Amino acid sequence: MASIFSRIIAGEIPCYKVAEDDKNFAFLDINPVAPGHVLVVPKKEVDYIYDLDEDDYVSLELFAAKVARAIVKAIPCKRVGSATIGLEVPHAHIHLIPINKESDMNFFSEKAKLSEAEMQHIADSIAEQIQ
Ligand code: 5GP
Repeated sequence: MASIFSRIIAGEIPCYKVAEDDKNFAFLDINPVAPGHVLVVPKKEVDYIYDLDEDDYVSLELFAAKVARAIVKAIPCKRVGSATIGLEVPHAHIHLIPINKESDMNFFSEKAKLSEAEMQHIADSIAEQIQ
């Protein structure tokens, strides 16, 4: 069965899309550690990020860098932290999280509660900054 992320990429499940290219897709995490928390996903469904072939891995990282540069412009923050976990969804992805201090990279913190309108506004703001 297709992963939840493949179903999002295919448009079968809605998401707050931020960007896509021929190989990769970026959208807001539905349960954000911070406003502007983005997931960057290869369109090819591979469970573990470090099992991606070299070209797909490099493509994913370069795409993630582009999205991270857009996040910093759209969301007030010092930097964008990145993390790979992948224990919940078996489809490789990189978490991009706006941070101001090390402890902001905390997946156990209370998640940001945002309205649909706020999520859409955040996604649109980041998308506008993609170059
Ligand atoms: P991980 O697999 O890296 O541990 O975490 C998966 C991440 O995917 C979590 O942060 C979770 O909130 C996010 N997530 C899980 N299901 C969905 C979904 O259906 N839509 C979106 N946008 N994010 C999801």
